[in-house]
Amino acid sequence: MQELNYENLLPATFPGYSFASFNRDLHMKKLQKLTLLFSFALAGCYAMGQKAQEQLNGVLWMQTSVEFQVSTVQAFRFAELRVRDALRDPKWTASLEQSSEYEQLPPAVITDVDETVLDNSPFQARLVRGNTEFDAAKWNSWVNEARADALPGAKEFISFLKANGVTVFYVTNRSQERSTLDNIQRVLDPDVTPEQVLCKNEKPGWGSDKTSRRAFLAKKYRILLLLGDDYNDFTFLGAVSPENRIRKAQAQSDFWGRKWILISNPLYGSWERALYESGSSESDKLITKYRFLKTKN
Ligand SMILES: [Mg+2]
Repeated sequence: MQELNYENLLPATFPGYSFASFNRDLHMKKLQKLTLLFSFALAGCYAMGQKAQEQLNGVLWMQTSVEFQVSTVQAFRFAELRVRDALRDPKWTASLEQSSEYEQLPPAVITDVDETVLDNSPFQARLVRGNTEFDAAKWNSWVNEARADALPGAKEFISFLKANGVTVFYVTNRSQERSTLDNIQRVLDPDVTPEQVLCKNEKPGWGSDKTSRRAFLAKKYRILLLLGDDYNDFTFLGAVSPENRIRKAQAQSDFWGRKWILISNPLYGSWERALYESGSSESDKLITKYRFLKTKN
């Protein structure tokens, strides 16, 4: 394997930083790394920060890669094309909950919030840095900061919808309506109103299954498009095996990329919960995940 030439890499990456000092640091880092690995081994590293470490590449992909940026911009640009088609076709609806005589209703788009239009990767980064796991109190505190950025392309898409008379509804399983509204106002749409944000349990019957909220909106609006990062943002799946999730998606193939647009989320989702029994210990979850790896040998 060809070795990396640090001397060539350095000038562009770290101006003013000499190769000699880099090389010295590299040796120090190697030593520190070995010491760290040894400490982990002694401590029986299996459980230590395992879950947080699993998030590292996903967080970095979201926060540093141009590939993630491009993937979300692509999705929103494609969504815009589909909305243009939908506006020209009065029979077009993206909602399975839409019943008859919807053709004359005003147009709307339903979007999820987290990892669809708002980027919570700083929250995930804090978990990785803190070597700790998700819990409701930490999440609540992050949401109340209302400091999530817009995902690349989301603001432009929402501006396009507004300019074309399409109302955007944010159907989210967050429960913190005020701070969610503040965050959306700040980074996505300064004119957003509380009526456009439909939180979980905001009304009786609005549970984590979003069907009832889509049905509520479909009575008053023609739904042109659904956007989400999770299958349950489009139709409720429940506890279904990974194989059956894929089968269901194949049966609904007419919707994907046409009326339903999915944003990639490398960090979490119902896909992960489909891998193991609910209530499993962290170590059991990890063992089960490894069993799902396909190696073709
Ligand atoms: Mg989401």
